[in-house]
Amino acid sequence: MPTHQVENQSTPLVDVNLWEHDAALQSALQALAPAQASSAHHRLNALGARCGSAQAQAWAFEANQFKPQLHTHDRFGHRLDEARFHPAYHHLMALALGEGLHAQPWAHPGPGAQVERAAAYYLFGQLENGVQCPVTMTYAVIPVMAQQPGLAPTWLPRLLARDYDPILRPVTQKTAVTMGMGMTEKQGGSDVRRNSTLATLDGQDTWGERYTVRGHKWFFSAPMCDAFLILAQTDPDSSAGLTCFFLPRILPDGQRNHLRVQRLKDKIGNLSNASSEVEFEDAYVWRVGEVGRGVPTILEMGNHTRLDCAIGSAAIQRAGLIQSLHHARARQAFGRHLAEQPLMQSVLADLCLESEASMWLALFLARTFDADADATQQALRRVLTPAAKYWICKRLPHVMAESMEVLGGNGYVEEGPFGRLFRESPLNSIWEGSGNVMCLDVLRALGRGHESAEALRALWQEARGLHPAYDAQVRATEAWLFDPARSLEEHTARAWTERIALLTQAALLWRHAPQENAALFVETRLGTDWRGTMGSHPALAAQARAIMQRAWPQA
Ligand SMILES: Cc1cc2nc3c(=O)[nH]c(=O)nc-3n(C[C@H](O)[C@H](O)[C@H](O)COP(=O)(O)OP(=O)(O)OC[C@H]3O[C@@H](n4cnc5c(N)ncnc54)[C@H](O)[C@@H]3O)c2cc1C
Repeated sequence: MPTHQVENQSTPLVDVNLWEHDAALQSALQALAPAQASSAHHRLNALGARCGSAQAQAWAFEANQFKPQLHTHDRFGHRLDEARFHPAYHHLMALALGEGLHAQPWAHPGPGAQVERAAAYYLFGQLENGVQCPVTMTYAVIPVMAQQPGLAPTWLPRLLARDYDPILRPVTQKTAVTMGMGMTEKQGGSDVRRNSTLATLDGQDTWGERYTVRGHKWFFSAPMCDAFLILAQTDPDSSAGLTCFFLPRILPDGQRNHLRVQRLKDKIGNLSNASSEVEFEDAYVWRVGEVGRGVPTILEMGNHTRLDCAIGSAAIQRAGLIQSLHHARARQAFGRHLAEQPLMQSVLADLCLESEASMWLALFLARTFDADADATQQALRRVLTPAAKYWICKRLPHVMAESMEVLGGNGYVEEGPFGRLFRESPLNSIWEGSGNVMCLDVLRALGRGHESAEALRALWQEARGLHPAYDAQVRATEAWLFDPARSLEEHTARAWTERIALLTQAALLWRHAPQENAALFVETRLGTDWRGTMGSHPALAAQARAIMQRAWPQA
């Protein structure tokens, strides 16, 4: 018996092109990677359509609904230590690796290569984030693996390949491989120097100096990767310092390595990605880099994973934003569409400003990672990698909660995308260097010399006059940056990191976005009235319509 007609409900946001309707992203590619812009346009247009398709969105949903399962043994009692996935996960992996999100700038380095890859990663990040974990780890290990004369001939071509070959078998029988990273142990994650896992020299072979390793890792994501870089001590009293090692799952003789997956983490979110606890029972590993130089090696990788945390968090902000804009234009309350209600307009405009500023900061940072980055860009990379990672990730849970609220009750049900997006939202801030650790890294970068401070000053200088609040904050921050007696006290680190990130975002918007948007960003974030809550600043409403139209044009 029909009781009512369904009306005044929104529609699923599927079969939309995430690239075609993103004017800001297209401008970013043009501005930061002009040499790639026209060739990349076609590729990104196709990827944007793919990521926005109903099919891919269904994969994202299923890959998270049907979580990976751990199979420790076969039915005869032999060890397997395998995580198994829903087919949707494999489709997503094939899409990400087929796009070269793990390898493109290494396979084809050049001006803007990292920016093009970042734009593609940003589009994919609006689709699904669990598979981005192994993709990012593979991307981050490639430069390190390329420097290993024993390992590179066999492993590098397969790391650079754009295939997805998930079958566990010897590397020589594979077309492509993925890699993970294992640092965190029970007694310390941020402070990896507390690692107790011990490697003992075993011999030498074509892959290099071979060790056996005994110990554990407390967080070990994507355990179905073909190999991992891990940290271990080489002496029981840790006096040599940590060393980096290469650990394959299948040994050169075809046997399984002694990598025991104890259990999968029962995580709050990031459900499509398997994160495990593992033990090494005299597993075979090969030394990477010098003995005792493991931390610098891992830090080199960490810079790339931190870049991806920034891009990925900007992408999730965008994913939430377009859902909320789509809904607000379809749903009416109190006689008007939500998108026409003045207070809702303020909220939506604020979300748009935040999202665009995050995207610019992330892609600008990616440009500093390009192979041709000059000294100034390198200096910016040192300070902006932790600053951008901190700020974009830190803002994400707040942005996500506001985007969800735009949908009212429909935002808070599992059938929609917000459960997944919201649960994902704190993660990028936790792993790869949690918030405080990033802020302390900003202080460290500034403490090393004046290069990073000079580079920031030059970047901010161009936008002088944008807004009195901007000029005042630049003056105060520069005074601190160049004061020989400045405080690098740890308790001040968040305050300065936030200013550095906000001023950089403002300067980028001034350069690349409509001037009035840049000025409004400053007014609402650096002016005295900012309370940090979306939509609370009275200046937002006047420009809201234009800002929303730029962010996601109304069909
Ligand atoms: C889903 C998931 C997957 C993961 N996958 C992997 C993986 O594949 N490989 C891997 O190696 N690790 C992995 N990790 C671990 C992750 O990188 C660590 O959890 C993270 O680095 C923090 O380390 P910790 O958990 O030991 O926390 P701690 O180091 O104990 O830090 C706790 C808190 O203290 C703060 N803190 C630390 N030092 C200071 C200080 N000096 N001053 C002020 N505050 C400080 C931190 O910012 C943090 O907020 C994963 C984590 C998660 C949640």
